[in-house]
Amino acid sequence: MKLTFAGVGAAFDPLLYTTSSLVEHAGFRLMVDCGYASLGSSLECDSQLSEIDALYLTHFHADHTFGLPALLGIMAERKRTHPFSICGQNGTEAYVQKLMQVAYPGLLKNLPFRLLFRESDIALELGPLLLEFARSLHPMKNMSVKINAGPLKLGISGDGAMTDETKLLLSDCDFLVHECYSPTERIPGHEAFQPLMSEIAHFGGLRELFLVHVFPDHREVIRQMAIKNSDRDNLIIRLPEPSSCFSLS
Ligand SMILES: [Zn+2]
Ligand SMILES: [Zn+2]
Repeated sequence: MKLTFAGVGAAFDPLLYTTSSLVEHAGFRLMVDCGYASLGSSLECDSQLSEIDALYLTHFHADHTFGLPALLGIMAERKRTHPFSICGQNGTEAYVQKLMQVAYPGLLKNLPFRLLFRESDIALELGPLLLEFARSLHPMKNMSVKINAGPLKLGISGDGAMTDETKLLLSDCDFLVHECYSPTERIPGHEAFQPLMSEIAHFGGLRELFLVHVFPDHREVIRQMAIKNSDRDNLIIRLPEPSSCFSLS
């Protein structure tokens, strides 16, 4: 499985692009979230945006979804022909229809490929992947996802603090991408480094933790905390950069 970060920034971070990642497994390409600034990194060179098979939206905030009109426009301009799936919580199709109506009225009707919507709050099978969901603590309903790719499990939190539901979902992950907004104290609806470390202390097989969506002013402090914690339990903790790419096996 290959994991590429298109962006790693928090909601209003102009430098690190909005948090979005691309998961590739067995020839299938799944993008997770597509914010207003997720398409500007070198993801374009590495993985041909127009060839992504599916997009999963964790929730509907702009920093996770406002890149979608441009993504569909890129696919249309390049005359993509094979179907594209947009997946997410119940209500995703209605949200995307509304977004596209505001952004580019008429584009959805003129796409040269079939647009498929897959909605669930529980689980979806998508090509070679099984996606399972649980709700985090965030001002807007956010469904964290566990991506089962053969024997490997990759969790991606989207936004929000852990809940009993997301802990249960993510506890057997090998790899975890998690929002980490602040160093010590959770601000309402967001995760913080210290409580996150306490929560994942009980995750038996977690090997690598990727911290994203970090508030810009906290990034250096959290980087230092991550270095101090990295030796513990053989867990590797990373603060990835935009366009960084990891082979997960
Ligand atoms: Zn966000
Ligand atoms: Zn959000």
